[in-house]
Amino acid sequence: MAVWNLGSVNADRVYRLPHLPEPGETLAAQSHRTGLGGKGANMSVAVARAGSRVHHIGAVGPDGGWMRDRLADYGVGVDRIATVDEVSGHAIIAVDARGENQIILYPGANLAIEPAGTEIALADATAGDIAVCQNETNAQAAFLEAAGLRGLLRCYAAAPFSVDAVAAALPLTDLLVLNAVEAAQLELGMDRPLPELDVADIVVTLGAGGCRWIRTAGGTVREFAAPRVEVVDTTGAGDTFTGYLLAALDQGMEMAQAIGLAQKAGALMVTRLGTADVIPERVEVENYFA
Ligand code: ATP
Repeated sequence: MAVWNLGSVNADRVYRLPHLPEPGETLAAQSHRTGLGGKGANMSVAVARAGSRVHHIGAVGPDGGWMRDRLADYGVGVDRIATVDEVSGHAIIAVDARGENQIILYPGANLAIEPAGTEIALADATAGDIAVCQNETNAQAAFLEAAGLRGLLRCYAAAPFSVDAVAAALPLTDLLVLNAVEAAQLELGMDRPLPELDVADIVVTLGAGGCRWIRTAGGTVREFAAPRVEVVDTTGAGDTFTGYLLAALDQGMEMAQAIGLAQKAGALMVTRLGTADVIPERVEVENYFA
């Protein structure tokens, strides 16, 4: 089986500065590094590290070859990442001496995906495979519709949150994954509690508080405690959790068991500094919590 991920690919350009720049100020950075990021790319890497086959669907610009190569090195299928005539998505991340940050995100090529192309990209998908997308690309509706017609399980990770985007995706979604803040915003925006939404399964991640699984048919709610770990950097915990969850489902685990594995991966991720490059391997997750 396989996971098909319509997702963003971003270059994260991280600049360390003595303080965050004031309006009108020009400030020299003390260091600079460029890493692979984007919620979509993070999720694809997490699926691959969890041991499932994953095909990334998306777009980069002519400057994005290194990101496609990096994903391929990490075991992600990159044949369906188009090169378009637009700069690659990138984030300019300023970090001050206290670790406070300021981020400018330019979606670029991530919003230049050909909707009809997402359907073509699923040509080799088979019923029972898993489709996932987040809210950092265009073409989500076309992708989820095509995935539904092919009998794939459709997962929507509602980040970055927009009530309009979730409302549009919900009728095309089987499994909704969102964090606590997004869950509260969704209930407010839809004026309904989560168990009343028209989607079969909802997983709400709660950071160190673990997560909650709602099966709307029957209104069952189950709480799962997170493993206790020393927190270094929470960036990418949600993407790691979702990637591992989908890989576990792809490998035939039941939801509760899949959540157990995803929580361990998310917890190990917060002990590490960085994003896609440091998402833990399955064997590391298993050994850490053995
Ligand atoms: P981010 O945006 O930082 O990637 P998120 O807000 O989408 O994360 P969280 O709810 O913070 O997602 O975390 C996802 C999952 O990762 C949690 O459900 C939990 O399993 C694990 N996790 C996150 N933070 C911790 C923590 N401090 N201790 C243990 N597990 C954690």
